[in-house]
Amino acid sequence: MTVIGRFRHNHVDFTGEIIAGKVHSHIGGREYEMDKITILPPCKPTKVVCVGLNYKDHAAEMNEKLPDEPVIFLKPASSVIGHGASIIYPPQSHQVDYEAELAVVIGKRARHVKPGHAKDYILGYTCFNDVTARDLQKKDGQWTRAKSFDTFSPVGPFVVTDIDPRKLAIKSKLNGRVMQESNTDNMIFDPFQLVEFISGVMTLEQGDVIATGTPSGVGPMNKGDIIEIEIEKIGTLKNKLM
Ligand code: MG
Repeated sequence: MTVIGRFRHNHVDFTGEIIAGKVHSHIGGREYEMDKITILPPCKPTKVVCVGLNYKDHAAEMNEKLPDEPVIFLKPASSVIGHGASIIYPPQSHQVDYEAELAVVIGKRARHVKPGHAKDYILGYTCFNDVTARDLQKKDGQWTRAKSFDTFSPVGPFVVTDIDPRKLAIKSKLNGRVMQESNTDNMIFDPFQLVEFISGVMTLEQGDVIATGTPSGVGPMNKGDIIEIEIEKIGTLKNKLM
């Protein structure tokens, strides 16, 4: 298991590995204290592919029957922010919701991945918040505007490699209070099935993110709130709403 992040120090961006709480730069081999550098999103996606309704508990909550294949949609790369960055409340919306999700980060170009081979294309896993302007999602009847505002895709803090993504506790906390609490074993389509399915539709590039859906308990946030997405073995993604 390795923990990989992207960082900024003195206007220079770099990738590094976290070892014993310190960041070891992949270029030049320098070592940094975490609190002396800025944490960036841990990958640079060309796209974020999201899955709607992928938890059995959420499907029950929404009174929907289980889908027979994944329902996917896109968020643009321009919506991505990292751990600690602010989510900006857009003036066009009056209801901005959090959605705790496990994210798969692609490690190499993937196309038509065969069953049993998805693992070869996955770099690792991280936390994702599928921030959604719920009022605009309902109003528009399709999801592009509601899901695509700048800052609406917090991801991170780091990518953790070589863990089994199929049984991890997942939570969201709003101002410290637990709002969602589930386990990835409640997923309808597991992360490997999602890589197979999505790569049969579009080429996945290195750094692309698949957000694997949210469990029950989604809800609204207000300006000034702190939202945290916490996943077992991965860590906590924390952002403030402004
Ligand atoms: Mg979602």
